[in-house]
Amino acid sequence: MLKIRNLLKEYENGENPLIVLNDISLDIDDGEFVVVLGPSGSGKSTLLNAISGLTDVKSGQIEYDGIDITKLSESELTSFRRGYTSFVFQSYYLMPVLSVKQNIKMGANLTHNKNVEDIIDNVGLRGKENRLPSELSGGERQRVSIARAIAKKPKVMFCDEPTGALDEATGRMILKFLIANQKKEGYTMIMVTHNENIAELSNKIIRMNSGKITGVFDNSPKTVDEIRW
Ligand code: ADP
Repeated sequence: MLKIRNLLKEYENGENPLIVLNDISLDIDDGEFVVVLGPSGSGKSTLLNAISGLTDVKSGQIEYDGIDITKLSESELTSFRRGYTSFVFQSYYLMPVLSVKQNIKMGANLTHNKNVEDIIDNVGLRGKENRLPSELSGGERQRVSIARAIAKKPKVMFCDEPTGALDEATGRMILKFLIANQKKEGYTMIMVTHNENIAELSNKIIRMNSGKITGVFDNSPKTVDEIRW
């Protein structure tokens, strides 16, 4: 259970600070697939970074199973992120000098997960495990980043516009994979997007605008094949 209360985050902006998270409160149950939906600049990425402990907030609480991560020291926060969370970004953030397998191992090593070979098979990268990221297509790179995220065995998976850099066919494939894996492993998945169609895949849609939550809606999820692009 993730309980977020009264989050406030500002950026300096001359005399008047820019408020990017304006009194955000939310409850997310274990195993939910939640989409945070809103236009560019509405604060979605900042919210994701704050919830996952990547960025600090001015005030408010972020409680994972009763532990408020805003109260943790830097080293406690690092071990929290290591044990609890994984990230998939639009721009992959792979290590360019490491092979596919080495990139995936970086995730696996953090939690001593030994199933790297299985994960390579699961994401369909068998035969390409010794290539560098520069020798892969965009969809393949995103599969490496998902494999690295999965290898950490997260309790919560954060995805920031994971298909933003991909064409439709590849984007659909990546979403299918993310959703199937989330169902199989049972972790919570929180995905940020500006795409209304992608939001229809989730159990819960959180709408944001100008740093505020403008609505939280339960949703009957559609399948990837049912949504428009
Ligand atoms: P979204 O993900 O919805 O596109 P962001 O969370 O990236 O929105 O940004 C929300 C607002 O915060 C935007 O106005 C953006 O310009 C501003 N912002 C984001 N990061 C910074 C930063 N490091 N310094 C100053 N302003 C920032």
